Amino acid sequence: MPEGPEVENVRQELLQLVSKQVEQIRLTPLSQKYPKYQDKQALFTQFNEKVLTEIVRFGKFLVWRFKDINAVILNHLGMTGRWCFFSDIKNLPASAKHVKIIIQMYTPPSAIFDDTRNFGQFRVFESFETVVNYPPIRQLGIDGLTSPFPLEEFLTRLEKKNFENQPVGEVLLNQRLVAGVGNIYKTESLFHAKINPNRIVRTLSDTEREELGLAIGEILQKALLDKGSTLNFQPYELPSGERGNAQSWHKVYNREGKPCLICENPIRRSVQKGRSTFYCSQCQKKS
Ligand SMILES: [Zn+2]
Repeated sequence: MPEGPEVENVRQELLQLVSKQVEQIRLTPLSQKYPKYQDKQALFTQFNEKVLTEIVRFGKFLVWRFKDINAVILNHLGMTGRWCFFSDIKNLPASAKHVKIIIQMYTPPSAIFDDTRNFGQFRVFESFETVVNYPPIRQLGIDGLTSPFPLEEFLTRLEKKNFENQPVGEVLLNQRLVAGVGNIYKTESLFHAKINPNRIVRTLSDTEREELGLAIGEILQKALLDKGSTLNFQPYELPSGERGNAQSWHKVYNREGKPCLICENPIRRSVQKGRSTFYCSQCQKKS
């Protein structure tokens, strides 16, 4: 799933659409197979002829704003959603087999939203204020891509009762703590900070908490610069077709059974809330 660094890189490329006038936003016939897209075409017609003014990111959400209209579009890439620029609709990339949305601009590039697994979102909200108050956005924690990383606020949030009694590997996936952290960067940050994902938050020392915060900030910034992670089983690409390069420095993610790059102990995999996590039992001790 695209995490903060991937979504921010996608946003930065999508900014090529800003200041352009929309000819039409169209839901494809394929999108109509899925209930959440059905009968929504009329809602999108209001954006025809409007000029896109900005795309704002909240954690892993993107909000599209337009000139002379209060309504906005909330967009989430979900597991497999990706934007892809095109100049000729008859010439879409061969990999675009699940196109749900077509945003046709009067001048190129235009963009399609392709989503294989259908967990993506592209929804109209009546105003920017409404979307900011939408609970999944209103309740977001600190933005992990903030630079410098807001360490003090991270430490304060981590002390909240509902986090203290949970394994740190699960807590880090909660967007109310750090928005933009997903499974890959959580796993890498815990390795970097030498903390076992199964440790209960209340057992972490002050130093470990600080090291964890610093690791998250550092890992997310590094991933941002490297344009995110493109894995074999994860089709993340930028709208231009460029792929990420952060996977080149992953130390534990998806390396089950391979030797730890520090101590050569085989990397282990465990499952937390249905998600695989990877760690070195030697470098990341349970206590
Ligand atoms: Zn190790």
